[in-house]
Amino acid sequence: MGSALKITRIWGIDIQVHWSFILILFYGAFIYSRDASNVLAGAVYGILVILLLFVCVALHEFGHAITAKYFGVNVPHITLLPIGGVAQLDRMPRRPLQEFLIAIAGPAVNFVLAILLLPVALLAVSLSMRAGAISTTIPGLMNEVQSMSLTGLLLYLAGMNVMLGIFNLLPAFPMDGGRILRALLALRLRYVQATRIAVLVGRGMAILFAIWGISGGGIFLLLIAFFVYVGGRGELEAVESRYILKDFSARQALNKDAHILYTSEPISRAVDYIMTTYQGDFPVYDLGHNLVGVLTRPRLVATLRTQGQEGRIVDVMIPRSQVPVTTANTTLADVWEKMMEAGSRVIIVQDQGQFLGLITLDDISELIQVMGAAKEREDTITGGSGGQAATSGTESQSIIDAN
Ligand SMILES: [Zn+2]
Repeated sequence: MGSALKITRIWGIDIQVHWSFILILFYGAFIYSRDASNVLAGAVYGILVILLLFVCVALHEFGHAITAKYFGVNVPHITLLPIGGVAQLDRMPRRPLQEFLIAIAGPAVNFVLAILLLPVALLAVSLSMRAGAISTTIPGLMNEVQSMSLTGLLLYLAGMNVMLGIFNLLPAFPMDGGRILRALLALRLRYVQATRIAVLVGRGMAILFAIWGISGGGIFLLLIAFFVYVGGRGELEAVESRYILKDFSARQALNKDAHILYTSEPISRAVDYIMTTYQGDFPVYDLGHNLVGVLTRPRLVATLRTQGQEGRIVDVMIPRSQVPVTTANTTLADVWEKMMEAGSRVIIVQDQGQFLGLITLDDISELIQVMGAAKEREDTITGGSGGQAATSGTESQSIIDAN
């Protein structure tokens, strides 16, 4: 989402538009000007239709965002893309009921809009009919929807809102309907189990979208199929990982014989360790044996690239104040979440103010790999059920919508 342009800020949420959105405006201009007697008027009308359609998409996203905010979730921005909108939530609430309400709020907005637009559209139709401006047959009405007129616009928007509402309710996790499905399953099943089923159903839907797209539904359906497939896999991985990590404490992941560096040592010392041991990240002490910073492998590599091995550890380390901190009894699931939030590959573990060691992302992914295999076997044997309060995925969540 790197190249998005902020257009405004409403209720503390940035509304931004992805650069590729311009393509859909061109598309609208093209479609409506193609057969128009006045090409310019057709193009302007086409752009107006697309803009109004995306106002509806933005309102749908606000449905999610406001519900999420009600449950105390921060929503930094809403992004509009050609295939729909994305409301960025800092996290997805751990309670299934909250996820259910956040997910359903988006389509609900579309149905409300349709209910508001439809009477106005029908009034416009009946006025036009009375004036003899449109024929009273079904094909006549279909023609009217595609024509450049207020009646046509209202009919189109009312219809599109119904379609948006229904389409997003399809159980294609991580789309709204898929989230609703997961939330309902999570009332009875373990969260990880509910996610597995929702993702599996979502993959089936993605395949159907792809077939639909190839057999004439268009490129957007193919993009949505891709989005659903990749997004579902990402969230499942996060939920599975958290499920494994919640059974371990930070203390259990500490490396007891980690090498340490001193501020006054040359950078070449760290290079030596990396070449001769499996360790890539180091706590850095001052001469009074106090922890003052951390040297990570990426930081060391970047330094070697710019200044070689000249200089001392103190010049290249990350100061302690910039490294996240956790306590020894925190679960690894929460430790991992904290690292993600801070965007840090290491975290300091301490007990009553005393430094115990570092945990790195490498440590965590190793543990996920090894214990994941063991847990899978255990789950197969015990059958694993028993409902419990759900935990959330670790990465920040997006409500992805399609239109
Ligand atoms: Zn939605």
